[in-house]
Amino acid sequence: MIDKFGRTIDYLRISLTDRCNLRCIYCMPQEGVPLLCQEDILTFDEILRVCRCGASLGIRKIKLTGGEPLIREGCADLAGKLKGLPGIEKVTITTNGILLADHIKDLVDAGIDGINISLDTLDDGIFRQITRRDGIERVLMGLKAALSYPQLTVKVNSVPVVREESNLVSLVSLARKYPVHVRFIEMMPIGYGKQFPFQDENSIIQVLEKAYGPLKPVREKYGNGPCHYYEIDGFQGKIGFISAVTHKFCSQCNRVRLTSEGFLKGCLQFQEGADLRKILREGGTDHELTEAIRNVIYNKPAGHHFYEANTDLDEVRGMSQIGG
Ligand code: SAM
Ligand code: SF4
Repeated sequence: MIDKFGRTIDYLRISLTDRCNLRCIYCMPQEGVPLLCQEDILTFDEILRVCRCGASLGIRKIKLTGGEPLIREGCADLAGKLKGLPGIEKVTITTNGILLADHIKDLVDAGIDGINISLDTLDDGIFRQITRRDGIERVLMGLKAALSYPQLTVKVNSVPVVREESNLVSLVSLARKYPVHVRFIEMMPIGYGKQFPFQDENSIIQVLEKAYGPLKPVREKYGNGPCHYYEIDGFQGKIGFISAVTHKFCSQCNRVRLTSEGFLKGCLQFQEGADLRKILREGGTDHELTEAIRNVIYNKPAGHHFYEANTDLDEVRGMSQIGG
């Protein structure tokens, strides 16, 4: 389906839960956020119905996210059912990796196509400072477990919140040691992310070139999104940048987002969208559901306005609640 600005929208990100087993400083407060009741969250059958209607409009790729998607029981089972929907080509997941080693086999058996692991440091102490929890060794176990399935695309996503150059340099060494792409996501001024300065792509490239030599731009596109990649001689994986602030990519945006309580959003930054849960639970037909999805896609905002004046329409929820 094409939106009113001519963009093809074929990618749906689904938040399975607003809960998380970490408390990353740029995403959630120490005490967590007020949590939704279980009955407010879409059931798997409701999610499948939304996706069936979305697929009829041209949704082809689905990413499971959260909160932490792997804390929702049955996540792999849902991934398998989504993969089986007519029209759905790819189902992937983004996870903090804590529970990944426990679930990887079920995810692979379900037919998952790719795993994104969020990891901002390889240092145990810094990991604890960023996530306010222990567990880096579990994340690394999850990464190794995912890499033992060569058919999977495995990526490490990192928000460069730590300013020490050595942190960037060591993280990127993962792409030398393993066939894994390491991608830097510029900090977005959403929710708790507003409190942190972002390190822009060019400054990170400078640091990496000092350590590893030239980063050469790669032409091929990998994956669903706006990431652009570089390669470094001798590295197995590529280095990617998702630079929503300094390289605004809204004109090529291909996605919409479903929150765990069933609200379909056209853009991360704006509150507007459709309450699909209401339609689902008040006896709405598939036609009504499909039309509501069509309406959100068609009216997807032109783009974000990070760092410009706020408006009343801006999103007030944090990333863990929206499904980053
Ligand atoms: N818990 C899972 C994880 O961490 O991958 C999935 C949900 S998390 C909200 C999804 C992604 O959003 C993570 O890679 C996280 O680093 C990123 N994120 C959270 N807050 C952000 C912000 N303010 N700016 C940019 N990325 C952010
Ligand atoms: Fe949890 Fe992911 Fe947010 Fe970290 S970024 S607090 S892991 S939802």
